[in-house]
Amino acid sequence: MTDKSGNNQRKGRVVVKIGSALLAKAGQGVDTQAIENWVQQMNQAREQGFEVLLVTSGAVAVGMHRMDLSERPHALHQLQALAAIGQMGLIQTYESAFQKHGRHTAQVLLTHDDMEDRARYLNARSTLSGLLSMDVIPVINENDTVATEEIRLGDNDRLAALVVNLIAADLLIILTDQQGLYDRDPTQHADARLITKGRAGDAVLTAMAGGANTLGRGGMATKLQAAQQAALSGATTVIANGRENNVITRILAKNSSDPVGTTLAPEKTPVKARKHWLAGHAKSDGKLVLDAGAVKVLRESGRSLLPVGVKEVQGNFLRGEVVTCVDDNGTEVARGLVNYNAEEASRIIGQASDKIESILGYVDEAELIHRDNMALV
Ligand code: GLU
Repeated sequence: MTDKSGNNQRKGRVVVKIGSALLAKAGQGVDTQAIENWVQQMNQAREQGFEVLLVTSGAVAVGMHRMDLSERPHALHQLQALAAIGQMGLIQTYESAFQKHGRHTAQVLLTHDDMEDRARYLNARSTLSGLLSMDVIPVINENDTVATEEIRLGDNDRLAALVVNLIAADLLIILTDQQGLYDRDPTQHADARLITKGRAGDAVLTAMAGGANTLGRGGMATKLQAAQQAALSGATTVIANGRENNVITRILAKNSSDPVGTTLAPEKTPVKARKHWLAGHAKSDGKLVLDAGAVKVLRESGRSLLPVGVKEVQGNFLRGEVVTCVDDNGTEVARGLVNYNAEEASRIIGQASDKIESILGYVDEAELIHRDNMALV
């Protein structure tokens, strides 16, 4: 599908996370002006060819404002109720801000558990990929009615990183109310220095990250954890102040004479990180025997594995498990998360993807293994 700007070229996939403390000042509700500003920059990024996903918190904060509460309640069930109230206002604000640019948005509510369950993981991935291909901006928050991880600890920092892993994003931008990561707590030490560049897994940085701020749950420690999680699938994280002029645009421009915030690079190359990340998924004894054409396409053109390139299905596996792809001699070529179970796969192999629906009665995806969910050996 061609995007609105007529730009088909993928410049990079970016997850922008906006925190509660930025969005809603205590007792003042949602900051519409600030949201319109970020939305304008995200829309511009989309027009430049970036694929943009937004992870936003702030539902509890907006709910507190709507219910005239100046103090954050302690009981989780009350916070969950406030999140349900506030989510309405939050999503409405984003929706109208993007509509001003003629861009549609979609509300996606996820939980950490969704990322651990094999089938739900792939379902979420497919939905988000579908939204991106329809040129729509996903607006993601935790589903606070059924989960409390982010209300308790994260302010969506970790959720944003899991989304990065899920859709193999290249960059995570965490917007917060501080300049970035400092070498010591800047509220206590006037000579604290901003760290402009580092490695996500650097133990020295972990020791430096301070405690949580007041409105949002996530302090620098959760932001660093998020950067480490994002690095697992090879993504870079930038932690920056959301109040800086044109912050998103400047981060994406990567102009070395105009540094913004703290950039945390992954330890491994995206390819190695991907293999490592796949290793953490349920592995089956399933195998797909590929024809010579498919082996060449995987190795040389970096494309997905389609059913038409598979000659044989061996072993048993479920949708979302890791299967091995081998050539005629049994040599491993790649491994990845398979979109169909063994029984379904054996019915669609050798067939064009547009036949899947008539064979199975439904179609999950055109690919047997999507490129984003695959690591070459
Ligand atoms: N999902 C929650 C929200 O959007 C997390 C942040 C919080 O607990 O304040 O409000």
